[in-house]
Amino acid sequence: MKKRIALLGSTGSMGVQALEVMAQHSDMFEIEVLAAYSNADLLIEQAKQFNPNAVVIVQKERYAQVQSALASDDVKVFAGENSLCDIIEMDSIDMVLSCIVGIAGLKPAFRAIECEKPLALANKETLVVAGDLITRAAREYGVPILPVDSEHSAIFQCLAGEFHSPIEKLIITASGGPFRGKSADFLEQVTKAQALRHPTWTMGQKITIDSATLMNKGLEVIEAHWLFNMPSTQIEVVVHPQSIIHSLVQFVDGSVKAQIGLPDMKLPVQYALTYPDRVYSPNPRFSFTDYPQLTFEQPDLKTFACLKLAYEVCCEGGNRPCVLNAANEVAVAQFLHDKIKFTDIPKRIEKALSSIPFAKPASIEAYLATDKEVRNILNDK
Ligand code: MG
Repeated sequence: MKKRIALLGSTGSMGVQALEVMAQHSDMFEIEVLAAYSNADLLIEQAKQFNPNAVVIVQKERYAQVQSALASDDVKVFAGENSLCDIIEMDSIDMVLSCIVGIAGLKPAFRAIECEKPLALANKETLVVAGDLITRAAREYGVPILPVDSEHSAIFQCLAGEFHSPIEKLIITASGGPFRGKSADFLEQVTKAQALRHPTWTMGQKITIDSATLMNKGLEVIEAHWLFNMPSTQIEVVVHPQSIIHSLVQFVDGSVKAQIGLPDMKLPVQYALTYPDRVYSPNPRFSFTDYPQLTFEQPDLKTFACLKLAYEVCCEGGNRPCVLNAANEVAVAQFLHDKIKFTDIPKRIEKALSSIPFAKPASIEAYLATDKEVRNILNDK
């Protein structure tokens, strides 16, 4: 029996790589649903290649285009944000793979858990914003959350067979981004083009900027906190520019396990899809002789304030990570539109954190309301 997958966010960088993996293993996987936000052209192309049962285009204005392009194919076409959640209820879906970018991933992830569909999660925001509700629901419904983020996949792989082993700390590696080792003065002047040039990973624009500010690592600390039930004081970040060790786990006996491989998202996505099995991958192999030097350094929390802020909100809990995440999304968008400087990003986040008091949201809707409030404040509405 093939595993039938609903791929949400199929036209983004992660979604495209996930489809490559599934195409390499067409004997194991069937694409049941493809969903995209606005890239109708690519969604149509993917639907013609993978022949899903249904597609969702979230932007309703693109519905007619998708509908008419797929009229002669045996594909149901839906539009709108609600369809993204409703479609998950289909009995024929065995697993939901969420590659959605941003807060938009929250509701579909929650619905997948409620529908008892195993959830392979590339969307960080789901856990960053509402990790308490999501992990509690996953436990209640007995639904596994399988990490796709390379660092969390690495930790997950290190923990295989270690179910009862007490953990001392998790060590998350960071490439350091394009501005590793640079001073605060240097960061004042950096351009969008410089920030978008990542040394080791090829990714979407939002996450590439997050990598340059180290916010990506901050979000990953919060993600790890929820996924592996670890306090942030036992989660360490180490800068490792070669991006070969994807993360490590240190156990109470002092033993450290690391997961190693070339920086290629296809491995973590494949592991999430085939877990608990490992299957052949045709992708290039890592060779130690190609990387005679693997180096490590402390992150500079003073210059890269976003990482420090993320540690702080992880410790505080409640609505703080939600505020941080929303403020960061707005600030990154403003930076990408040349409205603010690179070094204004952490300042915008601090402004949001000081404008909104601590609270403990009790529902997904309450988190989404907090998210909206932050956007209104920072967009001066
Ligand atoms: Mg990552």
